[in-house]
Amino acid sequence: MTRLNRLSGWRRNLLVSAVAVGVFPTLIACSGSSESDRAPVVVIGVDGMTWGVAEPLMKAGKMPNLQKLVDNGVGGVVRTDLPTFSPILWTSIATGTRAKQHGIEYFSEMGANGQPKPGGQPYTSNSRKVPAIWGLAGENDRSVDSVAWWVSWPAEEVPKSRIVASYAAQAQALMLWKPLVHDEGIPKLTYPDWLQEDIAPILAEGHPSGPLVQQYNQRFGTVPADWQFAFELDRFFRGVYHADQTHQDVFLKLLEDDGPADLNLVYYGSADVSGHYFWRYRQPSKYNYEIPPTHVERLGQHIDKAYEQLDVWFGEIMAKLPADATIMLVSDHGMVASNPDNTQNKQSGGHDGAPPGTMVLSGPMVKNRGLLAPGKRLLGGIYDVAPTLLHMLDLPAGSYMEGAPLRDHMTDAWQLEHPALPAKDYRQGFRAATPPMVPDGNMNQGFIDALNELGYIGDDNQPLAPQAPAGPSGSEELDEDSSETDLNQDPNGTK
Ligand SMILES: [Zn+2]
Repeated sequence: MTRLNRLSGWRRNLLVSAVAVGVFPTLIACSGSSESDRAPVVVIGVDGMTWGVAEPLMKAGKMPNLQKLVDNGVGGVVRTDLPTFSPILWTSIATGTRAKQHGIEYFSEMGANGQPKPGGQPYTSNSRKVPAIWGLAGENDRSVDSVAWWVSWPAEEVPKSRIVASYAAQAQALMLWKPLVHDEGIPKLTYPDWLQEDIAPILAEGHPSGPLVQQYNQRFGTVPADWQFAFELDRFFRGVYHADQTHQDVFLKLLEDDGPADLNLVYYGSADVSGHYFWRYRQPSKYNYEIPPTHVERLGQHIDKAYEQLDVWFGEIMAKLPADATIMLVSDHGMVASNPDNTQNKQSGGHDGAPPGTMVLSGPMVKNRGLLAPGKRLLGGIYDVAPTLLHMLDLPAGSYMEGAPLRDHMTDAWQLEHPALPAKDYRQGFRAATPPMVPDGNMNQGFIDALNELGYIGDDNQPLAPQAPAGPSGSEELDEDSSETDLNQDPNGTK
C-alpha cells in the first residue's frame, strides 16, 4: 500500500464518519487531510523479549526477520526501571515519564499508603496524567495507528488516529474474545467507534475455541491433560497467543486498509508469558529440582517457538512497509531464570531485577551497526523512546520527559535534516486524570482472574505489593549474558 492509498483511505474514513453523523459529503473534499510524505515510524512492542533467547535463534537462522531488522540498523539493549510491572513500563515507554508522573503505578489503583487499594480498579487511559505518544502525534497532525497498547482503554479520541485499545494486556483475551464484544461488549474499544465493527470478524476468529486453536497446536503441540501443572501453563499461554495473533491480524488490517500511518504501534505479550511459564523446561540446569525429561522434551522449545512466531509476525509487518520506514523494536525488560527452588511457582522465568530489554532501530535513516557486541549494547533507556519517536515525527520532545531523543543512532544525513528541537510542555491543556473506568461489571472479575493466573495475585487474592526489589538477586545474577547483567546495576539511571 502506498501513502497515496492511505490518503484515500483517510478520506474514506472521514466520509464514513461524516455520513454517520449526517454531514453533507461534499464538505469532505475540503476537510483538510494533510497526509505528508513522511516516512512511517513503526513501533513493535515485545514484552519481555531478551537477546538471551533471540540471539542464538537469530544466529541459527530461525529469526530471519529480526536478522533483517538488525542488518538494516542497530541492535542492542534498553535500560528499564523498577518495579517491572507492564502497565507502568509500557506507559513510561509511551509517555517518556516515570510512574509517579504518569500516574499508572500498578495494575490497579494504588492507595495513598503506597499499597494497592483494596478493591481498586484496573487503571484505564483516563487515569493517565500526561499525554501518550499516540495523543501527541495525532494532536500535532501526524496520523497514528495503535493496537493493544497497555492501559489504552477507553480508546482516546485522538485526531487522525485509529486506536484498538487494550484494557489490560493480560486480560485482553477476556476482553476481546468475549463473544458479546461485537454487539453489546466493551464500549470505546476502538477509536473511531466504527472501527470496532471493521475488526469484529478478526476478534471473532481469536475466540478461545476458534481456528487459532489448530494454528497453536501446529506450532506448539499439545500437553497431556494429566500433566496438570504444565497443562495449566500451556492453557493460559494459549490465551496470550490468541491475543497476539488477533492483534497482529488487526494491525495488518490497518496497514492494508490505508497503508502505514505516520506513527504505528503494536504490542505482543507472548515472549514475556512464555518466558515466565516455560523457562524451567528450556534451561532445567538452572533449577534445584528435577524436571521430568518428558516435560522438558514436550515444553522445552515453547519459548523459542514463541520467538519464532513473533519473527513471522515481524516479517508480515515488514512486508507491508515502504522502504523508507523506520522500525523500532522495543521490549520493556528482559527475562532470566527465576524461582530456582519453587517447583509449584508458575513463574520459572522472571524480571524482578530489571534485566535490560531488547531494542532494535532499523531503516535507511539508522546508522548501520548491526547487533552490538555483548557489553557494548546499551542503546538507551525506556524513557528515551517517546522523545525519540517525537523527534522522528519532527516534533519536540516533552520538556518534562525523563529521556532524550536517541539522535546518535540516526545517520549523519538524517541528523542534518532533522535538527534538535527545543522541548515543549505538552501537559498544558491536557485533560485532568480521573479514576479508572469500568467497562462492565463482570469484566473486572475476568481481569482479577487473569492476574491470578499469571501469578501476580496470591492465593488470598491480595495483589502482590509492588515493592521494588533492591537490585538483581537470586538466580537472576546467573543470567547467561553477564554483560547485560552489568547494566542492571543502575536500572534507575537515565540519560
Ligand atoms: Zn513479565
